[in-house]
Amino acid sequence: MDFSLSEEQLMFRDLARKFAEGELRPRLREAEQQGWVPRELVAKMAALGLLAAHLPTDAGGAGIGCLAAAVIWEELSKVSWTMTLGALGHAVLSGTILAAAASEEQRRQYLAPLCRGELLFATATVEPNAGSDATAIEARAVLEGDCWRLNGTKNFVTGGGRADYLLVLAQTDRQLKAKGMVLLLVDARAPGITRETVRLVGGRSGDLVNLAFSDCRVPAANVVGRVGRGLHAAFHGIDTARVFIAAGALGMAQGCLDAAIRYSRERQQFGRPIGGFQLVQETIARLYAEISSLRWQLYYAADLKDRGQPHGKELSAVKWLASELAVRAAAAAIRLHGAYGCSDEYPLEHHYRDAVLSTILGGTSEMHQLMIGRELTGFNAMV
Ligand SMILES: Cc1cc2nc3c(=O)[nH]c(=O)nc-3n(C[C@H](O)[C@H](O)[C@H](O)COP(=O)(O)OP(=O)(O)OC[C@H]3O[C@@H](n4cnc5c(N)ncnc54)[C@H](O)[C@@H]3O)c2cc1C
Repeated sequence: MDFSLSEEQLMFRDLARKFAEGELRPRLREAEQQGWVPRELVAKMAALGLLAAHLPTDAGGAGIGCLAAAVIWEELSKVSWTMTLGALGHAVLSGTILAAAASEEQRRQYLAPLCRGELLFATATVEPNAGSDATAIEARAVLEGDCWRLNGTKNFVTGGGRADYLLVLAQTDRQLKAKGMVLLLVDARAPGITRETVRLVGGRSGDLVNLAFSDCRVPAANVVGRVGRGLHAAFHGIDTARVFIAAGALGMAQGCLDAAIRYSRERQQFGRPIGGFQLVQETIARLYAEISSLRWQLYYAADLKDRGQPHGKELSAVKWLASELAVRAAAAAIRLHGAYGCSDEYPLEHHYRDAVLSTILGGTSEMHQLMIGRELTGFNAMV
């Protein structure tokens, strides 16, 4: 058992740290206001090998696996989680799905430009009546000659406003339930698609939209994977996204801890630095203990995944606990900064707004507890 990061992992960590400080931090407020991250920044991230780091080299990625990519995501999210959100929908969710399920022709046409950040992708599964229960989707795909006719609504699509292509999960035969689903690659400029911008409490530069498809025609060849395996393909991407969401949550928590330590050394009250008070140290010590423990759980789960081993409960455990820790860490760090922590002068209030979202996307905390429970007891308490 070796607990040290490899030379390559350390190199990517340092690269990500520099990129986050030099490129993300100065643009955070602007990106939050406009609602998305500029394409040139996505392209820069790609040029450094940070965007699609986990994807295999033959797909155009850096081929360093999920563990090393999680280290990258921690560094980026320490500075700004919301600025990684679009990349999560694009390279992590959509990229993973395409790398695993796309045909050779689709890989050639779409995957390399995705990895270079030239074409942007988003994945749309969730609907008004189908959130945690993905088997309940109502979007309908009907094959008519050489085209699918797509109708339905998709909500909270990350990166959906500016995406060039959408991976849309739809039902072909309601009787077949999960086995009737298809994942379609849809040109985002095709007629019959309307978008509505979504403004959430955080994740403000994630370019989230709700999408409506009305008799949208999609070429028959644009099935990703096989008809009947759409949900399976989507779940494969969501599983990988969970590694990145947990890493992002730990990054946010670490960013909050770093700020708390800095401030506790600078801020004087009652004639001495507040870091000298025992209760302040308790806050810092608790965050340190929780973050460093969960970081090993994250690396363990990511390593299992990289080695193709079962990793369900291990990943659910860290996705659940790290996202909830990020919420607590942001609140504790803001408290430690007093009123200054609530102002946007300090790098905390955006973590406070973003952290809560990490408890929801990629499966809510409740769903992850139920998944762990199902694996350990053999009983499914979800339905
Ligand atoms: C920032 C962000 C980005 C997102 N990006 C995307 C995206 O790119 N593409 C996409 O398709 N979707 C996306 N989503 C949607 C996300 O996947 C869903 O929000 C999530 O799956 C939960 O669905 P829901 O919001 O409908 O909540 P619901 O499923 O309605 O859940 C509501 C509450 O009920 C609880 N609950 C539900 N079922 C059970 C049960 N069986 N037992 C106990 N409790 C239960 C949940 O835990 C939750 O607390 C995004 C969401 C967010 C916040």
